[in-house]
Amino acid sequence: MLGDSLTRQGYRLVEYGEKTDLLVLNTCSVTENAEKDCRYAVRKTLRHSPHAFVAVTGCYAQTGAAQLQTVPGIDLIVGTQFKMNLPDYLPAPTQLRKQPEPELRHSRTIDREDFVLPGTAYSDSTRALLKIQDGCDFMCSFCLIPFARGRERSRVADDVLREARELAIHGYRELVLTGVNIGQYSYQGMELVDLLQALEAIPEVVRIRISSIEPTTIPERLLQHMAASTKVCHYLHFPLQSGDDGILHAMNRRYDVREYEALVGQALALMPDLGLGTDLMVGFPGEDEQAFANTMRMAGRLPFSYFHVFSYSSRPGTPAARFEPQTPPAVIRQRSKTLAELSRTKALAFYQQQIGRTVSVLFEQGERDGFRTGTTANFTRVAVPADAVAAGSIHPVTITGIMDGLAYGHLASPSVEPTYRPLL
Ligand code: SF4
Repeated sequence: MLGDSLTRQGYRLVEYGEKTDLLVLNTCSVTENAEKDCRYAVRKTLRHSPHAFVAVTGCYAQTGAAQLQTVPGIDLIVGTQFKMNLPDYLPAPTQLRKQPEPELRHSRTIDREDFVLPGTAYSDSTRALLKIQDGCDFMCSFCLIPFARGRERSRVADDVLREARELAIHGYRELVLTGVNIGQYSYQGMELVDLLQALEAIPEVVRIRISSIEPTTIPERLLQHMAASTKVCHYLHFPLQSGDDGILHAMNRRYDVREYEALVGQALALMPDLGLGTDLMVGFPGEDEQAFANTMRMAGRLPFSYFHVFSYSSRPGTPAARFEPQTPPAVIRQRSKTLAELSRTKALAFYQQQIGRTVSVLFEQGERDGFRTGTTANFTRVAVPADAVAAGSIHPVTITGIMDGLAYGHLASPSVEPTYRPLL
């Protein structure tokens, strides 16, 4: 969206690494190396474009503004609160000049008002992200996001529906609902499930996917609705982080192992074809051998189709930064590797379960080695010969085998594009 606004202002977008008059860095504070990465990007750009005006925004501009002011070459720092206004702080392209010191557009607190967003940006893809929420009040002990993105707030429902309709009319077949804590969506009495219903009522909207959602924000009503819906994908990604109750408690997560397992059981009972992903964090302070073994056991036991493994890194300002004992980096690396191997084994098992099934696949742009790939509602990646299907089309495919992390199959009914159903 920032790119769109800048284009309207007369700027022309170029690839990162090409000569430029303006560098806009959208930073993250979740990674340990935010400041280092930022210094590197600025240095690299100024080497080939010494006169480039450098503007930095995003989460690290919010939480690390003081550190960023010491980075040579930055001209403008814009905190999260003002990120979408960044183009307003820039002069016309011909008047860009490097500044003797960075201008700071920042406030320590972030409004908690519900919000609307500017016009829709269209890219060459079949899947679009649809932001519905921002901020988080949960205060997990390792996380800086509540400070970087502010308190929970929801996007005005009419604004979400307007953008969804525009995206669908422009050919996006799948809308992925995003936000920091989307299960907390709440706008004038509407919860997430009500918003889903309103989105499904738009005739042009074909598929809706829920992105990562906190386990304690999923009421049974939402699961039941997903199970019955013909448009909402049977796919959930709820972060587990650890399979050990002591660690979950120290993380200030809002569930224990038993509750999480119960939720998984409930979701699978309603949607046996569910694709289930999760996040796991290794090396949280105090994670001893036993705690890690508990995580391994739980990750192995539950029917995850994949998981993302994150290595804990201490974020200054969070409670966990003061916790003892911190886990040695070499142990974190080893545990991370062990879990990543388990994730690959789980993914393989999940893909093997799909063999023989006929599933609906939304095909995407681009082809490789004569094949076009797409995804099912439960996020199985499926390949068929590229000349059999067009990008953006949805077809029933019978899965016949798997290879290199992909399911291969043939069209079950090549001439007819079916009305979308989560899984046939
Ligand atoms: S729920 Fe997610 S975003 Fe919110 S504090 Fe916890 S980890 Fe951070």
